[in-house]
Amino acid sequence: MPKPHTDFDWTRSQFHLPDGMIYLDGNSLGPLPVATPARVARAMEPEWRDMLIGGWVKAGWHLAPERLGDRIAAMIGAEPGHVVVGDTLSIKIYQALAAALALRPERRVILSDTGNFPSDLYMAQGLAETLGNGTRLVTVAPEEVEAHISDEVAVLMLTEVDYRTGRRHDMKALTETAHEHGALTIWDLAHSFGALPVDLASCGADFAAGCTYKYINAGPGAPAFIYVAPKHAAQAQTALQGWQGHATPFAFEHDYRPAFEVTRMRVGTPPVLQLAALEAALDVWEQVDFEDLRARSIVLTERFIAGVEARCPQLRLASPRDPEARGSQVSFHFEEGYAAMQALIARGVIGDFRAPDIMRFGFTPLYIGESEVDGAVGILAEIMSGKLWDRAEYKVKAIIT
Ligand SMILES: *Cc1c(COP(=O)(O)O)cnc(C)c1O
Repeated sequence: MPKPHTDFDWTRSQFHLPDGMIYLDGNSLGPLPVATPARVARAMEPEWRDMLIGGWVKAGWHLAPERLGDRIAAMIGAEPGHVVVGDTLSIKIYQALAAALALRPERRVILSDTGNFPSDLYMAQGLAETLGNGTRLVTVAPEEVEAHISDEVAVLMLTEVDYRTGRRHDMKALTETAHEHGALTIWDLAHSFGALPVDLASCGADFAAGCTYKYINAGPGAPAFIYVAPKHAAQAQTALQGWQGHATPFAFEHDYRPAFEVTRMRVGTPPVLQLAALEAALDVWEQVDFEDLRARSIVLTERFIAGVEARCPQLRLASPRDPEARGSQVSFHFEEGYAAMQALIARGVIGDFRAPDIMRFGFTPLYIGESEVDGAVGILAEIMSGKLWDRAEYKVKAIIT
């Protein structure tokens, strides 16, 4: 039976959003789903309270990383049994990279782009140093990635949607090119999962990882996930040999033996309370059709761009103009972008700032509609035309932007 069309009025009713706030930062931290407090409370009372250590089995805590991995797999076009949840995205990127490099032992180049998220690049730099065998990270401009895929590249490591500009790589085409040259691919889905349809198997992706606190709305510190393609699952090894990734963790053997396939990518004890929050967030996502989501996202981003360009000539679009070439966020360059964003936030429009001059706005159709887009454009236009950003208090840099 085909899924019914997504009811975006219903999805909106599933989130807490403070009155008077226009929240365009769900690409950084999603809002609280209405069902989450009770679900997390249940993990504490009665589960933790009454079951204590028995909860690992009786409440299903121990297998939650695989169980939630399967639910995520179904939403990103991954084969069941090939996604596992845990740790943070940086750690999952490290594991994927180490595993992929080991599958191409004769090669030394990790290829990425200069727009990639710093943590992904730092992880690659750190791993290369640890390996100490001449492995090096090469970064090129995003539009030059394809031309730099060669027979020297071991791993092409990219974030599909650029965190700063929303520019989107062609996952399928780049994966194909990488494979033609014998390279493996790692796709970071931080700004893809929950933002647009993802189909890992049909793209032929070798590894992927993503987080759940941005578009997925599983809360601050919610765990990441990792995908290992079935064709690599038996060979791919983890660089982080934790006991939860052991074949028989409760045998407490002296030596490490890998668990079956993607389960070996588990490291240590899973964050049970945060997994309960993820469970509640996925309940909402299971009612969403990703094609519907994408169509709504494009309507909203197009409307925002048109409104801002008509009313704020000071701002210059930093995102691709073609909606097919971007994710679900829109960014603008403005020299005083930091102060302008503070002025917006002071007026209840929450976006964020990314150095050096990017004002970034995320569009999340689950709880953002046309009226929020128009409201944000109107307030931004007032700020720009009245130079309302030009106040000392808006120019003091905070630790977190
Ligand atoms: C948000 C984000 C991260 C963050 O990693 P954590 O380890 O979860 O803090 C990493 N990579 C990309 C591309 C991101 O957008």
